[in-house]
Amino acid sequence: MARHDISAATTARLAEPVPFWINGEAVRSARTVPLHNPANGQVFATVHAGTASDVDRAVGAARAAFVNPAWAEMNAAVRARILWRLADLVEAHATELAELETLCMGKPILAAMQMEVPFFAETFRYFAGWCTKIAGTSAALSFPVGDLHGMTLQEPVGVVGMILPWNGPLVIAGWKIAPALATGCTCVIKPAEATPLSLLRFAELAKQAGVPDGVINIVTGSGAEVGSAIARHADIDKLAFTGSTGTGRGLVHDAADTNLKKLTLELGGKSPVLVFEDADLDAAVDGAIDAIFGNSGQVCVAGSRLYLHASIREAFVAKLVSKAEALRVGDPLDHQTQLGPIASQSHREAIHRRVEAGVAAGAVLLCGGRTSQGAGSYYPPTILDVADQSSALVQDEIFGPVLCIATFDTEQQAVALANGTRYGLAASVWTSQVDRAFRVSRSLHCGIVWVNAHNIPDLGTPIGGYGQSGWGRELGQLGLLEYLQSKSVMFKISPAPVPAGSV
Ligand code: NAD
Repeated sequence: MARHDISAATTARLAEPVPFWINGEAVRSARTVPLHNPANGQVFATVHAGTASDVDRAVGAARAAFVNPAWAEMNAAVRARILWRLADLVEAHATELAELETLCMGKPILAAMQMEVPFFAETFRYFAGWCTKIAGTSAALSFPVGDLHGMTLQEPVGVVGMILPWNGPLVIAGWKIAPALATGCTCVIKPAEATPLSLLRFAELAKQAGVPDGVINIVTGSGAEVGSAIARHADIDKLAFTGSTGTGRGLVHDAADTNLKKLTLELGGKSPVLVFEDADLDAAVDGAIDAIFGNSGQVCVAGSRLYLHASIREAFVAKLVSKAEALRVGDPLDHQTQLGPIASQSHREAIHRRVEAGVAAGAVLLCGGRTSQGAGSYYPPTILDVADQSSALVQDEIFGPVLCIATFDTEQQAVALANGTRYGLAASVWTSQVDRAFRVSRSLHCGIVWVNAHNIPDLGTPIGGYGQSGWGRELGQLGLLEYLQSKSVMFKISPAPVPAGSV
């Protein structure tokens, strides 16, 4: 059985408290905080924690970098080459970055090396391509007021605060940092408390790639202090947030109470998986398993509600439960592991409390639902039959490996069930009928629908929420536009001077 050994580079890096990063330099503070490995509960590193005054310094550095001609007037093709170089450097350091992800949040090392880090690197290549394609318009005028010419310029929004969650520390950062760099913005970033290490290593690689000092600043610390200082800072032009709906709601108040900074909010989800009787059932079983148990269910678009046509329920559930029970839960450094630990002990307890409350309220446990003994915060794949669609199990995001099942008889019922929460992030439709796939996709109230697949992100395809799953989009051209603002320029064209002597 192959088990990954942590590299000498990572061991050496973690021997001292890890500093944060302002204006191209490592910053050490008076206070350090321990980081716990969720696989065994032990402290494996410490990190320097920033304060509101560090945020202030970081914003100052980001503002200075934003107006510095070295960045503001950098040729777009040169900026694109820096992004490509950065992607190459990320790939060259994939093992180190993946190890830091696994140690911090328990993601299985193979998933970190084969998916998280390559996808993160590719995000910079994708947005590098946009650097030289940022364009405004030139329009014929619509009102007869004289000879005018109108055009629009696309300009960077400015200093962007970024507040990040712990479930995909690099990938979710990349969705924000790459378009920010491509458009000429600068960044002040707060990683989640438990997962700052990979991004701090990335900041060094960005400097090596040629990103000027002050363009990327990272301040570690708590949401209450550092996050709030970013959200309320009057010299931050835009805030890009990924996290829970509750925190996002507070950030709207922070922006409104301070400088009305622009917001993109990527929030929670409770995404449905709809399986019709005409679907390839084996593919749908595998898809439903991946949809909820990938990354131990700690995925914003996790397929946490499964709706089955009544005619296939029995056979489908039998296969689903047997596959779920066969998944290997364990040490994230073991190459065979499919589900690592939940990212923290407290989050595991929160998941378990919700499952227990659901069972007490009438949900039927089909598998899982027990906490393991021992130090690691493991939780098994858990499936529940939940008839009451108003129950908390169905309505609230759990953010763990917990799947709720119910059945439907008609397409209309399936759509109504799918649309029956306050969220609207994602959904999948499993059917072999093209017209049904199209009809249902059109009726679903969410930002992305997969047909006969679930949670396959693409860099060119925007993702974001309907309803209380958020505001704005990430990835694709729409994700780029969130970092630009349009300026219209109107030219009054004077008549050509009449040459002297002409009649
Ligand atoms: P969270 O809201 O608790 O924390 C997210 C970040 O906000 C952290 O860095 C935290 O320190 C910070 N924060 C907390 N309170 C703050 C405050 N008052 N002011 C400023 N910052 C504050 O979320 P989490 O538990 O870290 O992440 C899980 C959540 O993220 C889930 O709800 C999940 O669905 C969501 N998520 C959404 C997407 C998406 O694309 N829609 C992607 C991944 C995760």
